[in-house]
Amino acid sequence: MNRREFLASSAAAGAAAVPIRRLRRAAAPPWYATMRRCGQLNFNERDPLTLDVGGWAEYWASLRVNALLVNGGGIMAFYPTDVPYHHRSAFLGTRDLFGEMAAAARARSIRVVARMDCNYSWEEAVQAHPEWFERDRDGQPRRHNESTWLFKTCMFSPYFTEQMPAIYREIGKRYAVDSFFTNGWPSTGALGVCYCESCQKIYREKVGGVPPEQTDATSPLYRRYYAAFMDRLLEVWRLWDAVARESRPDAVYVGNLGGGIRVVKDLARIGQVAGWFNADHQGRAGDTPLWDCAQQGRVARSVMRGRTITNVTGAYSNSRPVWRHVAKPAAETTLWMAQTVASGMVPWFHWLGGSPEDERWRDTGRQFFAWLAAQEPHFRNTRSVADLAVLFPQSTIAFSRQGTDYLQGLYAALLQGRFVFDFVHESDLSEKTLGRYRALLVPNAAYLADEPCRQIRAYVQAGGSLLATFETSRRNQWGDARSEPALADLWGLTVAGELVGPAANSYMRIEERHPVLAGFEGTSLLPGPENRVPVRLREAGRPVLTVVPSYPAFPPEMVYPRTAHTDEPAVVLRQRGSSRVAYFPGDVERTFWRSGNPDLGRLLQNTVRWVRGDQTPPVSIAGEGLLEAFAWETEPGYALHLLNYTTPNLTWGLVDRFHPIGAQRVRFEVAAGRTIRRVEALRSGRVLPFEHDGTAVRFEVPAVVDYEVVALT
Ligand SMILES: [Zn+2]
Repeated sequence: MNRREFLASSAAAGAAAVPIRRLRRAAAPPWYATMRRCGQLNFNERDPLTLDVGGWAEYWASLRVNALLVNGGGIMAFYPTDVPYHHRSAFLGTRDLFGEMAAAARARSIRVVARMDCNYSWEEAVQAHPEWFERDRDGQPRRHNESTWLFKTCMFSPYFTEQMPAIYREIGKRYAVDSFFTNGWPSTGALGVCYCESCQKIYREKVGGVPPEQTDATSPLYRRYYAAFMDRLLEVWRLWDAVARESRPDAVYVGNLGGGIRVVKDLARIGQVAGWFNADHQGRAGDTPLWDCAQQGRVARSVMRGRTITNVTGAYSNSRPVWRHVAKPAAETTLWMAQTVASGMVPWFHWLGGSPEDERWRDTGRQFFAWLAAQEPHFRNTRSVADLAVLFPQSTIAFSRQGTDYLQGLYAALLQGRFVFDFVHESDLSEKTLGRYRALLVPNAAYLADEPCRQIRAYVQAGGSLLATFETSRRNQWGDARSEPALADLWGLTVAGELVGPAANSYMRIEERHPVLAGFEGTSLLPGPENRVPVRLREAGRPVLTVVPSYPAFPPEMVYPRTAHTDEPAVVLRQRGSSRVAYFPGDVERTFWRSGNPDLGRLLQNTVRWVRGDQTPPVSIAGEGLLEAFAWETEPGYALHLLNYTTPNLTWGLVDRFHPIGAQRVRFEVAAGRTIRRVEALRSGRVLPFEHDGTAVRFEVPAVVDYEVVALT
């Protein structure tokens, strides 16, 4: 639900019986729903000796943050706690660092979020409350791998239901904080397996045995543990949310999520309890694509339906290896924050330690946040104008061990083709959700439950279009094989054998010309996918592309096809009324991602264009360079966000400087009855000339340095 819908629905729900004055109060969205900027200084144990509260408060005020994260406690109390076994900083002395910083923030009209850590405690607590701690198989408590004097607490233990609530209550009573946030919990990654008493009881009573330590959805024990784990996670989340509200009715508990597209836990269930989703997705390392933060925004939006999402940007160098106390390049940090806001999230700028020797990060945050604050209304999105939906295949990513290459391949093709699109979650494919889109794109959702399959079929039967690949719908959400893919009837296919591949040097032969083959006029052969499901058509027909099976690539004397011709389809293209259905039995998008062969990218882009049909797209952008675009309806009008990814550091290294791209020619569709009077590029500060073109406006963005936001009002 977006803010406007939230206002409308709250008003409608309350209208019948509630007096006007109360209605106004009830209709106001919670404070965190309109929050636009967050800051965080992460205290260390020594900070009470030297920390300049006033100086830090001034810094955060200069960023015009609405909320500040301040370390309360958990592992370490930064205030004079009276809760037993709540360990105080050894350097706290007579200071109340939390209270001082909270007061300094409040004095500057900044909300205070108590940043907690529920994941570790100390030796003295292990002695007094052995039941609070995770245990290895041999019964030993688990030490932190670096700070070995800390011990891991167990979320199934009373530490989570008694000790943490006691700490929240103390902080809530003394400081009336606006929110509680827990670092490191629950996360979206794999489930841990612990052998403490509480867990043994769960295994006996709810799981029927000790679950496997690694993700293994083939195991019935794992499946029951997954359910019990998610139940406990939500129970704790709800409890902490209720405790947060005891001292302030408008307070909220926010857990730590993130993980981008790589998730194991059930985000849809978490989305049902979360008033605020925080993505602890602070940066990238290794060969992670630059767009990782924008993807995080898309994933979170697919389960939050307009509720608040924040994303943490680490100003420090959180690469591999990590450096906590030096800044990463300003360009990388800025592009990360730009992706955060472009994808509809709220940025949260983060530094560690109160006495930095590296000060370079300060201006990076200040410049970006000050610009955001000046343009704030244009970041209040009411809806996405995208008419393409990409299914976020959570079960496949979580349980299939096939990784994220399929989604990355489709994603790269969509960026190259400059499509504007949203993610939809596999658990939210209702008519209300899918009905907004011309086409649904499904990158190998091999593990898909019955209900989403039914909803996809209903969507197609109602005139929606579909692009799917490879093993989509071949298994249920846990990976149990179906006799036929659940959606095979939509494709008019039958599976003809076992999976083929991985095999290099296979091809697709062009049998007849078709719009999906535009640009391939000089060839009748295209690179084939590495893996494929062998299929045959249920009714006689002539495939547009046929499979040329793999043949030796070495030595050259042996490189010739052993089969002259097959009638095995490499793509199926069907049309019924306004509905167009395309299916690739091969893993074309994964092969595109791994090989980078542009023919496969072009084939995917052509096919996306074909399935979405002849209707003019809501936004089209022509020009040089690689960019990612988001288009929103906003409170004042519309906003088009252009992120410039044209950099040698797309998949390696951190971006150290920008490579500006030239003119981008834009056509932007405007809703009936809406008049555009002004088009302004907010980052370069230029008012752009524009012209009306039927129901759209046309304009040219002269250049994009790092990021541009064009406001149409
Ligand atoms: Zn345990």
